[in-house]
Amino acid sequence: MSMKPRIALIAHDKKKDDMVTLAGEYREFLAGCTLTATGTTGARLINELGLAVECMHSGPFGGDLQIGAQLVMGNIDCVVFLRDPMTPQPHEPDINALVRACDVHDIACATNVSTAHLVLGQLMLINNKEIQA
Ligand code: PGA
Repeated sequence: MSMKPRIALIAHDKKKDDMVTLAGEYREFLAGCTLTATGTTGARLINELGLAVECMHSGPFGGDLQIGAQLVMGNIDCVVFLRDPMTPQPHEPDINALVRACDVHDIACATNVSTAHLVLGQLMLINNKEIQA
């Protein structure tokens, strides 16, 4: 990864607090990344953490698909997608499409907080090494 990491951030409603907490823990690193998010998630990251985030539509209105399209075009390096496994979502097909696109294009996709820590922590290490090199 030779440029700023490009990270997509998405959280279902019951996971949005977790996303804000997670992003807060990596705030300094994320501030140096190019961030994209679905509408409501992005708005919270902007308002509560002061991060610069390019906001897509809200997930149920096509935001997941917009992020999927960016990913297919090679514009996303990593996805943090905090899904709510306990609540049916009206845009389930879009969610599956995005996760499938990650698998098709071999893009890291963290769908829970523990995995997100591993992925963001590792990205941060790689990025720091590249900055020092
Ligand atoms: P939101 O979309 O950030 O606009 O709530 C997330 C989703 O539900 O996929």
